[in-house]
Formats: sequence, C-alpha cells, structure tokens
Amino acid sequence: MKEGWEAVIGMEIHAQLATETKIFCGCATSFGHDPNSNTCPVCLGLPGALPVLNEMVVEYGAKAALALGLNINETSVFSRKNYFYPDLPKGYQISQYDKPFSSDGQLTIMTSERDESGRAVDWRPLTIHIIRMHLEEDAGKNVHEGLPETDKYSYIDLNRAGTPLGEIVTAPDFRSSWQAYDYVNHVRRVLQWVGASDADMEKGNLRCEANVSVRKIGQEEFNNKVELKNLNSVRFMQKAIEYEIERQIAAHEAGEGVAQETRLWDEKNNRTRVMRSKEDAHDYRYFPEPDLQPLVVTPEFIAQMKAEMPELPDAMRDRFIETYGLSFADASLIVGDKALAEYYEKTAQASGNPRTSANFILSELLRELNNSGKTAAASPVPAENLAALIKTLDAGKINNNQAKEVLVEMFASGRSAAEVISAKGFEQISDPAAIAAIIDEVINGNPNQVNAYRGGNDKLFGFFVGQVMKASQGKANPKIVNELLKSKL
Ligand SMILES: [Zn+2]
Repeated sequence: MKEGWEAVIGMEIHAQLATETKIFCGCATSFGHDPNSNTCPVCLGLPGALPVLNEMVVEYGAKAALALGLNINETSVFSRKNYFYPDLPKGYQISQYDKPFSSDGQLTIMTSERDESGRAVDWRPLTIHIIRMHLEEDAGKNVHEGLPETDKYSYIDLNRAGTPLGEIVTAPDFRSSWQAYDYVNHVRRVLQWVGASDADMEKGNLRCEANVSVRKIGQEEFNNKVELKNLNSVRFMQKAIEYEIERQIAAHEAGEGVAQETRLWDEKNNRTRVMRSKEDAHDYRYFPEPDLQPLVVTPEFIAQMKAEMPELPDAMRDRFIETYGLSFADASLIVGDKALAEYYEKTAQASGNPRTSANFILSELLRELNNSGKTAAASPVPAENLAALIKTLDAGKINNNQAKEVLVEMFASGRSAAEVISAKGFEQISDPAAIAAIIDEVINGNPNQVNAYRGGNDKLFGFFVGQVMKASQGKANPKIVNELLKSKL
C-alpha cells in the first residue's frame, strides 16, 4: 500500500447452513439437482402458503455463532425485506433486521502479510468485532447459460430459494487484503469444523462481499466505500480488494474522489468494474414477518449447544504446540483439516512419538493424500497402522528411508506395516546366533585383514562391519554386529 494511506475493510459473509431441508419448508437443499425440482408452495411463494421454521437451522446457527464468538440473543425476530427481483417469487425475503439471532462478537484470528512469492511473513493475532450474524432465506437464481439440450436460454431456478443462510457482518476492522483473506479462511474453517456449514465457495454455499475504502493515516472519518461482489474464491477476493485499494488511493490523489458504488471483480481482466451506483440502492421497507413468531431460545438450549461444541481449531493448535512440542507452522497445517488433526492426535498417542508422527504426516502422508485426491478422513493407512510403523522405526528395526518407503507401500496397498516390512525384506536380523555365523564367515574369508587388525590396525574394524552388513544384505542389527565383532576379533 502506498505510504501515508490505510485501507478500511468490512466483511459480509453469507454461509449456507448445513441442513438437509430448507429453512421454512421440507424441500431438499441438495446441490446440482434438475432446475425447480426441489420446490413446493412455500418456497415458490404461492398465495396462502405458510412458513414453518426448521429447528436444525437454529441448532446450526447457534453453533456457527458460538464458533465466531457471537452472543446468541434469547429473542430474535424475522422480518420481511421487500424488493422485486425475478428470483424472489414472494417479492420479499424473510430475513432478520433489528433483532438478529446473534450479535456483538469478538473474534481473534491469526493473520500475516505475504511476501512476493505469497509466503506468510509474520503471523500475529488480530481481534475483530463481528457486529451480527442473522438468519435468513436465500433467493433463487437467474441462470443464463442455457439448458443442456437447448441453445442460449435464460430461466429461473428456485431450488436455492429458501435454503438457510447465516449472514455474518463485521465492523470495518481489517486494514489489508490479507487480513480479510485470513478472516474468510478462518470463518470457513470453523464453520466446517463445528458442522454448521459446508462452507464450500465453489458450490456457492459460502459467499463473501467486502466493503472497501481508504483514508490518510491519522484521518478519523471514513471516505466513501465501495462494495465488492462476485468474489468467487478467497484468492479473487484478496486480489479484488488489493486492486480496489490502489484504485481508490490513485483517485483520491488525483482529486477525483471515489463514488459510493457496488463493483464486481472481473477475473479475466484482473480489475474491478462498476455494477451499480448507490443511487439505485433499495429501500427495503423492513417489517416483522407476520407469519412467524419471534424466535425464542432458552438459556438451557444455549448451554446445551455450548456443551456440544468441539474444541475449536485454534485452541487445538495451541494445545498441540504445548503438549506435543510442535512448531506453530506444523501445528497450523495439522489443524487445517479436522480429520487430519484427529488423525495426527491418534498417531501421536499410539506411537508415543508426536514429533516423528508430525513429520511423517506432513511430508509422506499429505503428499500421498494430495496425489490421490483423498482427504485424511479417507486415508488408506489408519492412524494405528502409521503408529505401528513409527514404533518399528523407533525400535531400530528399520531405518528412516525404509520407513518412508514402507509408508508409501502401505498407502498404495492398504496393508499393515509388519506385512510390508516383511514383504520388502526390510526386517533386521537381531538373532545373535545368525549374526555370529555371518561374522565367522567374514573372519574366515579375510585372513590377511584379520592378522593386520590383530597386529594393531584398528581402522580395519570398519572394514569388518561393512563386510558383515554386506553379507547380511544390510539387515543385520548394527549394534549386535559391533558387539559380536569386537569379542570375536
Ligand atoms: Zn419448499
């Protein structure tokens, strides 16, 4: 960012809650079905149809709110947000306005600026204020790509109409595009972690908007802000914010000022462009939804939701650093995925070696998982099997390179460590009688070296060790070889 300027960024995230059915009717929320196949009189907005609140929306909403540090309000009210658009058959959206489901949260995230190559340079905590998360229904979708069997064709698909959303709104607390980037990733991860949302941006069940303005450092009042939409990935969002910051600083410096407007990210041209100016901003004429009672949640319900909350990823990361001696970077990678974190903890405990467990998981296992497009939850090597391999390594029965080779084979075949080790012939010979027999052969086969060694050439000891290891094809236990050689020579 140009010196003397700072960015002021607030974020809005729409997260689809992970219910099987819609917020006010029994239609399925599933993705990718035939257009308008998951609809009924309620979500089609037919006259006389009445909404009934889906209880699971309240449960997932509560878990999302708790994961984000929000307070759940005992009473919240659904309101009608009135506007006309083809994908909104009722002419209004049922949302929440002045009495939202949850509000006033403090959330601490870890964030870092990135260097030229995109690497994080300095992770540090940032605490931001989340103003609210309210519950609402999604609208349908105007589709312009054409039906598969026809040419260009526009139509309205109401499968998405009525799917439940949590809208999460922050204060303008971010000062850089990377802070906003780390925030969205944090929200995605905790929502997935507590099971409140799939939070998959590709499927559109997590969508974000950024409000961006810039001001001179030291200036208190805000300048006009621009709302950025159409941000299809966290990376595009970060680029769009970065572009917008530079564009606005240049406009202010040129004395042109910045118009309050909505802009889209144009990913082909790597720039933002105007979608609409604020002049046609809507007056939504909110009023309480007469067909729904206020939503009242009891303190007992809130207490139960709190009790059901799993340990959150940041707390788990800190515990892994504390308990298992992992670095911040390694622990962060491990808690990047809940299944991976659980896998790690099982392996660390069963093997009794948390550091080696982390090394094998973060290098060998993750590489194999990535190459095969699998997640940790679907790993063909169960945590107990990896732990058994690490124990075999720690017992000195195989070496580190062999262990890596064994793990790759375990991954490909699904077999246990012991099976692969014996199939590969990696098992060490630790039987003293067997090793003694090999040593005798080596001594008998090299009389000149034996005489020289006995005559005082101590350096030849290494030669004998090498011969024994060679004769055993590398399998003899080196410790026993050393002991027996010394006594026999
Ligand atoms: Zn329906």
